Amino acid sequence: MNLGWIIAGFFAALAVWLWRGRRRLQRFIAEEHSKLQSDVSKARQETEDDRSELVRRQDAIFNSMIEAVIVVDLDGHIVSLNRAARSMLNAQGDVLGQSVIEAFRRHEISDVVQQVARQKQVLDVEVCLAGIEPRYLRVNAVALSGGDGIYDGAVLVFHEVTRLKQLENTRQEFVANVSHELRTPLSLIKGYVETLLDGAKDNPEVQTKFLHVIEKHADRLAYLIEDLLLLSKLDSGQVVLNLQTTELRPEIQHVLDDLQSKAAERRVKLLNEFPADVEAPADADRLQQVLFNLIDNAIKYGRTEGAVVVGGSRRPDGKVEVWVRDDGPGIPPDAQERVFERFYRVDKARSREQGGTGLGLSIVKHIIQAHGGEVRVDSELGKGTTFFFTLPA
Ligand code: ADP
Repeated sequence: MNLGWIIAGFFAALAVWLWRGRRRLQRFIAEEHSKLQSDVSKARQETEDDRSELVRRQDAIFNSMIEAVIVVDLDGHIVSLNRAARSMLNAQGDVLGQSVIEAFRRHEISDVVQQVARQKQVLDVEVCLAGIEPRYLRVNAVALSGGDGIYDGAVLVFHEVTRLKQLENTRQEFVANVSHELRTPLSLIKGYVETLLDGAKDNPEVQTKFLHVIEKHADRLAYLIEDLLLLSKLDSGQVVLNLQTTELRPEIQHVLDDLQSKAAERRVKLLNEFPADVEAPADADRLQQVLFNLIDNAIKYGRTEGAVVVGGSRRPDGKVEVWVRDDGPGIPPDAQERVFERFYRVDKARSREQGGTGLGLSIVKHIIQAHGGEVRVDSELGKGTTFFFTLPA
């Protein structure tokens, strides 16, 4: 074999080897490429799944928030809102893309959106949604800006504060009432003391008369403070009822006996018509307080030379009902619901003249409700008034 053939043979073998190597390399590259492609699409799918899960979770959080949240764009159109926002602001249908005024028909909210767009900063304001029953919302609004720092829209978070506002109003009203109630007898006492010091003390007749007036107003102050302390204890749950099976007729008689001299001053007859042997679970001291307030009122506001009768029975449902009836001028229909409110009086001058605090019936209601019972009043002008309360079986 000559050298030429050997070389040719070598190159042929090399060419075959190279060709096979190239084929293998191509196959390898193709396999790796398809593996890579499947890995990429798997990773893409996983990212997509993660993203959907994230969006789903964000939606769930967004919709389970108690606070109402609204996101608006640059022009004040709604980009998104959560479930609480829909119900709090009474959104009807699909409101996405609508302006705030179109979606909620509330200029107060549209005003906040315009304000945050103008000021481009965080706002914390309270808005009152006018209506038959006004509602109060606290709004935190944050301006959003794009990468270029230019205003891009806003996020508004709403908290319903109507209940808080009502409580605050009640508290303020209560404080104003208490101050007024304390100031009136105090300034009267001060006035009489000054007149005595200015010389009236030298006239024994005037002196005695003035001292009696001072005593009356000092008593009124003491009753008021006592009632206020009791109400505050009842409100804060500090009064724990000592419930015992109590026979009611003797309890009623006890209070009637205590009030006998007061009734005699107005020549009012006191009658106990409550049947014997009727028992109910009650705290005897608190029950006496309820009976005292109702019978005392019946004497004070009833007819001079009239009659106050206490009666009652066990009802078919097992509850015990007690009533206190007078034959006085009665309570006008529109005032009947209100007499249980703190400081409400039908006739302010008469109540004050009688040393009333305006808290007696609210104490009655509180104590009876704490027993699990109910209170109501039935009255007809010119014919008299009957207060009823029940005690559970
Ligand atoms: P007060 O200390 O003024 O008596 P109450 O809470 O006991 O306060 O009563 C509230 C108001 O209800 C009284 O001021 C009075 O106007 C009215 N009232 C209560 N009981 C009677 C009654 N038996 N007849 C008529 N009016 C009554």
